Amino acid sequence: MNLLPIVAPGAALAAAGIAAWGAVAPSSELFGPTLRHTSSSRKIALTFDDGPNPAVTTRLVELFDRYSVRATFFLVGKFVRACPELVKEISARGHLIANHTDTHANLIFESRAEIRGELARCQDAIAEATGAAPPRWMRPPYGYRSPLLQAEIGRAGLQGVVMWSKSYWDWKPQPPQRLIERLARVASPGRTQGDIVLMHDGDHRALGSDRHHVVAALEHWLPRWRDAGMEFVTMESSSETGAGRTDSPRR
Ligand SMILES: [Zn+2]
Repeated sequence: MNLLPIVAPGAALAAAGIAAWGAVAPSSELFGPTLRHTSSSRKIALTFDDGPNPAVTTRLVELFDRYSVRATFFLVGKFVRACPELVKEISARGHLIANHTDTHANLIFESRAEIRGELARCQDAIAEATGAAPPRWMRPPYGYRSPLLQAEIGRAGLQGVVMWSKSYWDWKPQPPQRLIERLARVASPGRTQGDIVLMHDGDHRALGSDRHHVVAALEHWLPRWRDAGMEFVTMESSSETGAGRTDSPRR
């Protein structure tokens, strides 16, 4: 019995599977240090991708003011240039701004130079809008981490990648009640680590997308999470308050 024809394709498939897993799994550390949850089950990091979005982001930060929430916004560079005042407002209200590339590129298909440009142009757009230092964290669009990304992270002056521990398909149009029910799974008791929750205030395809279900679901949950003693943290509070840990790469 000749095992080779069986084993070899299997090994190749396994290797391909590991590469794909490394690209998309929120918990994967194949491609470098990654933040993927907070250090305490009482700490929630609410993170919002694909903005700024003039139709939603202002409502969101006004809602956050009501409950003293600080959140993290992973912004798309081209939208930052279109709405610099909104970016300034997010920053002025005390939220953390982070890099989500310049055009929402799928980095898997980008060359090293293209990745470098995507990160740098977004960094520049954000720094120009806020008048502050450029971001220290980034999240790759779709969660796709190219093996080339890690070297470019440091070159862009970024500290690392932020993935997530919970995602609720909020980018799909849906009745608010459905998202409210899904968000009940945040902050499940009996765990030592807390959630980095992936949500969306924007849509990478265009400005002005409808995310009213996201706002409505948070209007429901923020007072309840607050009353349950939850603390809202950003990546930036990681060193002082244990918002999260940067895990060392395993390989
Ligand atoms: Zn995105």
